[in-house]
Amino acid sequence: MNKFINLIYRHRYDIFFSFILFVIFIFGFIFLQNVETKNLIKTLENKSFDIRQNIISKNKKVNKDIIIVTVDDPSYEYLIETYGDWPIPRNAYAEILDYIQNQKPKYVAFDLLFIKSLNRIPNSDNKLIEGFKKYKNTYTAFNFDDYSFDLRKPPSIDEKIKSKIKVFSDNFYPYEYTNCRIIMPEIINATKNIGHINTPKSDDGYTRTVPIIVKYPKYNQTNYTVIQDDYYLYMTVKMIIDYLNEYENENIEDLVIDSNNNLLLGKRKIPLTEKGEAILNWYGKSGTEVDTTFKYVSFWQIFKSIQAKKEGKRAILPDNLFEDKIVYIGTNVFALSDIKTVPTSKYLPGVEIHATLFNNILDNSLIHNASLPYNILISIILSAAVIFTVFRIKSVYVSLILFAFLTVTYSYFTTYVMEKYNVWVWLVIPVACSIFLFICSFIIKYLLKSRDFEYTYKLATTDGLTELYNHRFFQEQIRQKIIQSEKNKTNFSLILIDIDFFKKFNDKYGHQAGDAVLKHVASTLKKSVRSEDLVCRYGGEEMTIILNNTNRNDAIKTAQKICEIIAEKKYELTPELEVNITISLGVSTYPENGKTPTELIEYADKCLYKAKENGRNQVGFIS
Ligand code: GH3
Ligand code: MG
Ligand code: MG
Repeated sequence: MNKFINLIYRHRYDIFFSFILFVIFIFGFIFLQNVETKNLIKTLENKSFDIRQNIISKNKKVNKDIIIVTVDDPSYEYLIETYGDWPIPRNAYAEILDYIQNQKPKYVAFDLLFIKSLNRIPNSDNKLIEGFKKYKNTYTAFNFDDYSFDLRKPPSIDEKIKSKIKVFSDNFYPYEYTNCRIIMPEIINATKNIGHINTPKSDDGYTRTVPIIVKYPKYNQTNYTVIQDDYYLYMTVKMIIDYLNEYENENIEDLVIDSNNNLLLGKRKIPLTEKGEAILNWYGKSGTEVDTTFKYVSFWQIFKSIQAKKEGKRAILPDNLFEDKIVYIGTNVFALSDIKTVPTSKYLPGVEIHATLFNNILDNSLIHNASLPYNILISIILSAAVIFTVFRIKSVYVSLILFAFLTVTYSYFTTYVMEKYNVWVWLVIPVACSIFLFICSFIIKYLLKSRDFEYTYKLATTDGLTELYNHRFFQEQIRQKIIQSEKNKTNFSLILIDIDFFKKFNDKYGHQAGDAVLKHVASTLKKSVRSEDLVCRYGGEEMTIILNNTNRNDAIKTAQKICEIIAEKKYELTPELEVNITISLGVSTYPENGKTPTELIEYADKCLYKAKENGRNQVGFIS
């Protein structure tokens, strides 16, 4: 039992560290399992993405061949004044389309939903439908949702709008919608250039990604059971495939998602998340203000230009503004609620998301996530560097500065990698890990230091053989005791002990037996006094005890008790051989027998001499 306790005592630091590590591990594990924690980490990581995007967006250049035509606030007012109410008759869009198409743009895409509405004006709708028939480079949109079947039975979508995609990835689970808001069937008849424009937001309300590919079932139109799942492409992706085939001599027909979740488009590819989203690489702040990066044109400007042309006046817009351009048409009005919050802008017209995606695909600059092993590796490297600085560098300040330097450098590194290689490397987890480990390393470092200190202290103050305090410690303590006792007007006593005939004992039984007995005597002495008393090895076979707060009478009683205990004790040298020894003792008390260490020791020594003289195995007195 004693051995076991000793073992535990000797390894108490290792046990303590293991315990702490175990607790940290368990807590960490529980912490990371928590959904809230996961969301928090995700939100923070997203925020760090936004910061990086804001930094690097300042150096990006948008493609000036992309022009965004919007119903902005002034246009909205102009349209309401002209047409009465929203939605405006669709011949207005037809007019805009004609105007733009007359200038021979490459592509025109409506980020608007031309749904079947009650207040439709057939003649006016027909003008727009004619437009779609006439201009084969015109695109439009529809959108999915998950509305109840009781509200609206999910329509089936025309075959030509679906996309066939071969998926070679095991990690591809695109959004699955169950319902859909279909647009005017006449438009679907007129064109195949129709894609979805769903843009889900992150939990924090930001739009960072667009779902390039989504799933929507083909339903049995009588009982609405699912016949099969079909894939649908984002409008801009449909358009860019045509663009690449027409203007860059690509021959993209079959769509393939490779094992790394890339949608392959000839020389280009769209890296997708496992949800089938593309992570956009945002451009500078734009939207409602003049500092737009993409070129914006307002509806009212176009209407005024059309009017001016009719009247033979000079138009505000140049005649070749849209020549060879990619033109997106959408709204940019709060009232029409197509305003998004994105990393680089609080209010971004939804239509600019299309422009951004088109631009990103053309530049091959969509963001892709660094792989999990890479992220983990980099977390480990950063953490290792942090631990290294703590354990290798003596100064706390230097290691703090180095730590700050490391994390800042790492943040720069992630920003650089995003700018240069369009890669999103984790920032939050590695930095959080390194902060956590920095603190842990510090705690461990100081615990280790205190263990070393305790060890060195023990080494310096105790005697190796008997584990009693050593001579130096004794001298130090007796000086301290004198100062204390003088201050507090108390007393203390000193017992000097010498083993009787120890030379003979050694001669008879050998030095090793002598050592063993010395050890036993030491431990018996320790057990015979109070915990506040100090038992020291004075030298050789002489020992001293400093009795705290003890007067002369009590000290003599203690000395006599010790003398008896030692005399009665038997030591088993071998199983057959039992021996016993005796001691002689001298006592001195502060302040009556001396006021300095030397005086006190001398007095006790004299008493001890008397004990020897009187036949040993006793406490001696000076008469
Ligand atoms: P006395 O009763 O007069 O004290 O006789 P003594 O033989 O004990 O005489 P003295 O105190 O002068 O001798 C001390 C002896 O103690 C000398 C030495 O052999 C022995 N001794 C001192 N230190 C140690 C030690 O660490 N181990 C062993 N085994 N013997 C020691
Ligand atoms: Mg001696
Ligand atoms: Mg002796």
